[in-house]
Amino acid sequence: MRKKLVAGNWKMHGSLAENKVLLEALVLELGQASTAGCIVCAPFPYLAQVQSVLSGSTLAWGAQNVSNHAKGAYTGEVSASMLLDFGCSYVIVGHSERRALYGEDDASVAAKFAAAQAAGLIPFLCVGETLEEREAGVTEAVIGRQLDAVLAVSGIEGIGRAVVAYEPVWAIGTGKTASPQQAQAVHAFIRAKLAVLDKNVAASLVIQYGGSVKAANAAELFAQPDIDGGLIGGASLVADEFIAICRAA
Ligand code: PGA
Repeated sequence: MRKKLVAGNWKMHGSLAENKVLLEALVLELGQASTAGCIVCAPFPYLAQVQSVLSGSTLAWGAQNVSNHAKGAYTGEVSASMLLDFGCSYVIVGHSERRALYGEDDASVAAKFAAAQAAGLIPFLCVGETLEEREAGVTEAVIGRQLDAVLAVSGIEGIGRAVVAYEPVWAIGTGKTASPQQAQAVHAFIRAKLAVLDKNVAASLVIQYGGSVKAANAAELFAQPDIDGGLIGGASLVADEFIAICRAA
């Protein structure tokens, strides 16, 4: 049985005051026992705050990006070992906003994935197609290519120590969720593709869905056989919504 994981991706939102209210609500409602894993991915400057509020609860936390380098003259970059210093267990790698807005290509995503794992972090590897790619019928080709880039560097063994997040770009922040059937079809494709390399890894891999998940649609998405929780953007900033999504998992 795969454990369901729900991760909040705060993106570039929050303040010390807002975070305090949100994090304390999460600890109160989710911090004791939960069947699903609940994770918060915060902006770098707030990781110390997240660590101080969530320590001792069942909630885990992580970052939204990481350098592919371990250390050195890389102004503005943050290494995986720095994230570990603040108690991070996870890091998002290859989010579509980083691919589209910050020029991260498949090779740099693969390098970040490997750097995160080398330091002991669990990457959330984001993959997904744009609307144009879906309409052109190349969804599987695009996701296959994104996975292959990571497989080439880290192998199926590396994928087996990560979480994959399927996030159709057209569903992110748009209010247009993929239907449970559309998402399930892609999740099944990912699992089948990886099963060719290693059946056990494919069967135990957690594959999250992301893209306009809310309390109102989470249960139906998470009920699909190959959907193992979600990566939540906008709704992770609203305590009641995020708590309800975690409970739906
Ligand atoms: P959204 O974002 O839930 O706001 O659509 C998801 C994500 O980008 O991870």
